[in-house]
Amino acid sequence: MRELGYRTVDALVEWLTDDSQPPLRRASAAEMRARLATPAPAKPHDFDGVLARLFADVLPYASRTGHPRFFAFVPGSATWPGALGDLVASACNVYAGSWMESAGPSQLELEVLGWFKDWIGYPADASGVLVTGASAANVTALACARETLAGAMNDDLVLYVGDQAHSSLARAARLLGFRSNQVRVLPVDKRFRLSPRTLAEAIDTDFAARRRPLFAAVSAGATNTGSVDPLRELAGVCRERGVWCHVDAAYGGFAVLSERGRAQLDGLELGDSIALDPHKWLYQPYECGCLLARDGAALRHAFEIVPDYLRDAQANEDEVNFADLGLQLTRTSRALKVWVSLHAFGLDAFRTAIERSLELAEHAAGRLESSSAFELCAPPSLGVVCFRRRFDGVDDEDELELRNAGLVAALEDSGLGLVSSTRLRGRYAIRLCILNHTSTREDVDRVLDFLATAEPAHVDLSVAYERHPTVSATSQDDRSTGLPLFRSLSTDELARATASANERRVRAGESVVARWESSRDFYVLLDGRAEVRIDDDLIRELGPGDFFGELAALEWGAGFSYPRLANVVARTDLQLLVFPNGTLNDLIRDFPSVGREIRAAASERIARH
Ligand SMILES: *Cc1c(COP(=O)(O)O)cnc(C)c1O
Repeated sequence: MRELGYRTVDALVEWLTDDSQPPLRRASAAEMRARLATPAPAKPHDFDGVLARLFADVLPYASRTGHPRFFAFVPGSATWPGALGDLVASACNVYAGSWMESAGPSQLELEVLGWFKDWIGYPADASGVLVTGASAANVTALACARETLAGAMNDDLVLYVGDQAHSSLARAARLLGFRSNQVRVLPVDKRFRLSPRTLAEAIDTDFAARRRPLFAAVSAGATNTGSVDPLRELAGVCRERGVWCHVDAAYGGFAVLSERGRAQLDGLELGDSIALDPHKWLYQPYECGCLLARDGAALRHAFEIVPDYLRDAQANEDEVNFADLGLQLTRTSRALKVWVSLHAFGLDAFRTAIERSLELAEHAAGRLESSSAFELCAPPSLGVVCFRRRFDGVDDEDELELRNAGLVAALEDSGLGLVSSTRLRGRYAIRLCILNHTSTREDVDRVLDFLATAEPAHVDLSVAYERHPTVSATSQDDRSTGLPLFRSLSTDELARATASANERRVRAGESVVARWESSRDFYVLLDGRAEVRIDDDLIRELGPGDFFGELAALEWGAGFSYPRLANVVARTDLQLLVFPNGTLNDLIRDFPSVGREIRAAASERIARH
C-alpha cells in the first residue's frame, strides 16, 4: 500500500507542478477510443503500467482548470491538502449518511456548514447539506421549497427566474415536473439584474389568475456576467408574498470572505435558501456543493424517510442524519476536504486569494475600458469580465462575432491561456472569469496582450448557436408564419403558440427520433427532407411544413404517452421547430384549430401501426 501510494503521489506532484502544459488539450472521440477502448482486463496488470497509462492516455486530455491562465467558464483551482482530504475520505470509504455510522464526519460537516452560515450571515440554527455541486443544491432547494409550501407537485405552482439564471434551475424545474407554463423566465435590466418590480408584477399577475407563486431563484453572481441581483429588495418582494426566495450564489457566494465581495453581496443572508459551490471559489476539488436553508427543520421535513431497514440508524434529537437532508443515501464526506484545506492554509489565505481575484478582475476591466482596442460588454462583477475586441471599420455583428470567436480560438491554439465566450442580449462576448488562486497580474496581462494583438484564427460558426428561447423567438415567428399547421392563427397567436418551441438543426443521415424511445418532443419541419421508417419500410416522406412526433408528444394521462412508434431519419440537413416534452398538450388546448389538425393526423397515423 505504501509503495503504490508513494509512486502515485510522486507521479501526481510531477504532473501538478509541470507548468509547461497548456490549460486545455482537446482530442477527438476517435483518438480517445484508439487510446482507451479495451475490454475489461481479466487478469491483474502491473500497477506502474496502469499509472503510466493514466498519465499518458487519460490525464493529458483533461483541462487543467487550476492553470494560472485558465479564465474560461468557471475555473476551479483545487489545493493539494484538499485533494488529500478527498483521498482520506475515499481510502477510509467514509459513509457520511447517518450519525450512527459517522458521528465524526457528521460533526465535521456540521462544523463546516457552521462556518459557511457564519460567513454568509445565516442564523446558527439554519440547516444545510453538502452535495455534489450547485446543480444538486438548486434542485434540492426547489424540492424543499415545494414540500414546505405546497406538498406534492401540482399544476398551479409557478416558479420565477431571471433570464440570467443558471441552466441548472431550468433542469431542476424539469426534473421536478414543472411544465413550460409553470416557469416564468423574466427579463433583466440593463445591468443584467432582475428588478424587484418585474418580479413583483409577475408574481402578482399569477396570484390574480389564481395560480400559486412558489419559488423565485435570484442570482448572487450570475454565471454570464457575475451580476448580483438586488438581493435585499427581491427577498422583500418574496417575503411579502409568501414566495420562497432561493439565492443561487454558487460561484459568487464565497466572495463574502473579502471586503470587496461582501459589499457587493448585500442581502445574501435574506434568502430562504442559498446554493454555494465550494468547488469553485473556495478552491475545493470536485465535487463539493452546498445547500443552506434558513429554516432549520425544512430540509429534514422535505426529505426524511425511514424504512425498516434503516431504523437502526435513526438519529436522536441533536444528531443529524445527512442522508435525510437531500437525495443521497450513500454519500462520502465532502466536509473532510474542506476542513483539511481550511486548517492547512488558514482562512486568511482564502480571503487574500479571493480578494486578489477581485482586484485582478478590476485591473482587467480598467485596462479594457481605457483601451481603444476593446469594448466592455457588461459591467464587470465578482471576477467576471465580458468584453470584445474592436476591429477598424467593422461594425457588422456577424463579422465581429466571427473575429472575436477567432481570437478565443487563437488563444486556445497558442496554449498560452484559455477564455470562453457567451452571448449578452444576443451579442457575442469574450468572457474572462478570474477565480484561480494561482493567477497573477502578469497572467491577466499576457492574455489581454494576446487578445489585443493576435490574428483571429479561422472558426466555423455554421453550427447553430443554441440561443436563449426569448432571443430566438423573433426569428422563429418569421419562420413559422408560412407553416400550414399554423395557417389559422393570427400573428399574436402564432407568437404565443411557438413561444415554448426551440429551433434545432439535424445533419443529413442522423436520426431525429428512434422507434420505442420515450422522448416526447413534437416537431415541425422548417426546412429539409426526412423519412419515417419502421424497420426497412418507408412509411412516409416529410418535407417543409410537415409535422411529426405527435403520437409520443400527446398525453395519454398522468404524463404518460406512447413510445415512439417509428424512426425518423434526416435525408438532408434539417431545420426543425421543436416543441419540448409536454408543450404539445398546451398547444392543442390553447389553439383548438391546430389541435384538430394534429389529432386528425394522430388518429390516422396510429391506425397504421
Ligand atoms: C456553476 C454554477 C451552477 C452549477 O453548479 P455545478 O456545481 O456545476 O453543478 C449553478 N449556478 C451558478 C450561478 C453557477 O455558477
